[in-house]
Amino acid sequence: MINPESYIFTPGPVKMPPYIMEIGARQTPYFRNEFFSNTLLECEKLLLDLASAPIGSRVAFLTASGTGAMEAAVMNLLSTNDKAIVINGGGFGQRFVDICKCHDVAVHEHKIDGKNLADTSPLDAYAGSTALLVNAHETTKGILYDMDAIGNYCRENKLLHIVDAISMFVTDDINMRNQHIDALIISSHKGLALPPGLSMVLLSPRAIDRIGHTKSLYFNFSNYLEDGLRGQTPFTPAVTILLQLHARLKQIERDTLQHEIDKAKCIADYFRKHVSAWPLGLYSRFMPNAMTALTPTNGESASNIVKHLADRCNIVVAPNGGALQDIVFRVSHMGDMTTNYVDVLIDALDHYYGVTR
Ligand SMILES: *Cc1c(COP(=O)(O)O)cnc(C)c1O
Repeated sequence: MINPESYIFTPGPVKMPPYIMEIGARQTPYFRNEFFSNTLLECEKLLLDLASAPIGSRVAFLTASGTGAMEAAVMNLLSTNDKAIVINGGGFGQRFVDICKCHDVAVHEHKIDGKNLADTSPLDAYAGSTALLVNAHETTKGILYDMDAIGNYCRENKLLHIVDAISMFVTDDINMRNQHIDALIISSHKGLALPPGLSMVLLSPRAIDRIGHTKSLYFNFSNYLEDGLRGQTPFTPAVTILLQLHARLKQIERDTLQHEIDKAKCIADYFRKHVSAWPLGLYSRFMPNAMTALTPTNGESASNIVKHLADRCNIVVAPNGGALQDIVFRVSHMGDMTTNYVDVLIDALDHYYGVTR
């Protein structure tokens, strides 16, 4: 049975603050009017500010999960004439590979494990590429790539830089200008701590120039950008989530983005300082503030621990699938976390391993 009152530590959905849940409890309003237009226009401006987007950047607001926005970015910005380097360090890197293949975009797949690409020289093997696609935080393994190094590489090699920042936006630094990012993909249900269903692609002027004719009606960015000029979308948007986004962006504006990032770091550090007492190791050397990936050091299956926490403690952490099912589980630090809330998980793991502090 799904218990909505479980303690939630998954990297999407994440714990939502009460003021966001209150908006979700209200009647969905009509949206083809000035009030909604002003709300959407303000969301666009606030998002572009948060991402340090270059002047002239725009946002496409899509009613879709994050994968929909990843696919839309590929469909609108790349063509069969492109050759895309895809950083494939896990499940989400693989998703970019699959999307490119689905749309007949030629791919140089850079398989990588346990590295953050601070050294980009291995990418020199893919001469003649036109674009680079990367998940800034590969959520299946908890690896945060070196986006400064990758950004410089894209600038030097004139690559269109498409970044999935879904699981690190507002918990970790990302900067479209400094990191030469042309398309930044984000989604509602990770660090933004809203319900799933809304995804956004932030487009630099260079990316906007690349929008060609895509074979999609629903995901045609030209229409989103044109209607967006007057604060509207071509089709019914995720109205309530957009109102929640607006409230969340105003809160971040008040508190500052740095405060938001510091808060996530503080929660991550607090959790991680307890890990050494358990037979668990940190799985990645390059973890973001957003999440901790853990691996059992006593031979126990990671999925056992996930199951115990769910069945016995009403705590949901994220299992891994496939080959990592026994090796890794993940604890998110995104959303409305407090040290008291994290203590529930720490106490449960202390109890599970017989640790007294
Ligand atoms: C969660 C996530 C997505 C989106 O997945 P959906 O299930 O389509 O919302 C994409 N990329 C990364 C890195 C993610 O963590």
